[in-house]
Amino acid sequence: MTDAILKVKNLKKVYDNKPAVDGISFEVKKGEIFGILGPNGAGKTTTLEMIETLREVDGGSILVNGINVAERPNEVKQIIGVQPQTAAFQDKQKLSEIIEMFAAAYGEKVNVQEFLDDVQLGDKINNYAEQLSGGQRQRLSIAAALVHSPKVFFLDEPTTGLDPQARRNLWDLVRFIRDRGVTVILTTHYMDEAELLCDRVAIMDNGKIISLDKPSNLIKQLLGRGFKKEQKVEQANLEDVFIDLTGKGLRD
Ligand code: ADP
Repeated sequence: MTDAILKVKNLKKVYDNKPAVDGISFEVKKGEIFGILGPNGAGKTTTLEMIETLREVDGGSILVNGINVAERPNEVKQIIGVQPQTAAFQDKQKLSEIIEMFAAAYGEKVNVQEFLDDVQLGDKINNYAEQLSGGQRQRLSIAAALVHSPKVFFLDEPTTGLDPQARRNLWDLVRFIRDRGVTVILTTHYMDEAELLCDRVAIMDNGKIISLDKPSNLIKQLLGRGFKKEQKVEQANLEDVFIDLTGKGLRD
C-alpha cells in the first residue's frame, strides 16, 4: 500500500509467556477511518497502545508516517493524537485552561475558542470541567487530543455509555476530523457504529487478525458462505422511535 500512514508488521506482545498480540500485520491508509473490533481480551488495546508508544513492542515493527515507533517514539508522539481518559481533567480547571495546558505540553499556541467551537463546547469556554456531562467531557477530551494537529488520531471505545444523540454527534465529529485530513483509528463494540463509520475494519480474536476488509465486503463474504437469518423487514426500530420523539439535537 503506497499511501499507508500506518504499517504494522508481525507485531507481537507477550504477557506471562502467553501472546496477547500474536504476530499481526496490517496497514492503514491516509485519510481512512479504520476500526479494530474484537471480543474482550482479543488484544485491541495492547495493539493500540504499542502503536501509541505507550507499551513496549516485543516483536515485529510499527511505522507511523514512515517513523519507527520503537526507534523514534518521541517523533511518533508529535504526529499522533490519543484521546485521553476523561478522568485526566482537573474538575476545578476551566475548559479554556485545559486546552491551553494541553497545547503548552506540545509547545503550541492555539485559538481556544475555535477549538471548543469545533466540538460544540464554544459556549462553555469559561465553565469548569466538573460542570460537564459525560458527552461533553468526551468532546473536550477529543479537542484536547487535537491541539498539535496530529496526522493520526486514536479513539478507544469513544461512544461507550453515550446516549443516542451524543453517539450520533460523536460520529459526525469523527467524520469532521477525518475530513480535515486526519487518519482515524478506533475501537468499538458497537457493530452498527463500525458499519456506518469505518472505511475498513480489522477483526481480532486471540491476538490475531482473523479478518480485514470494508464492512460491506465482510457482509458479502458472510452471505457468500451461505449465511441466512430470519428476515424481519421493519421500516423503523426503537432507536428511530427514540430519536423521533426526543430529536437529534445534543442535550448535554
Ligand atoms: P482487548 O483490548 O481486546 O480487550 P487487551 O489488549 O486489553 O484486549 O488484552 C489482551 C490480552 O492481554 C488479555 O488476555 C489480557 O488479559 C492480557 N493483558 C493485557 N494487558 C496486560 C498486562 N499489563 N499484563 C498482563 N496481561 C495483560
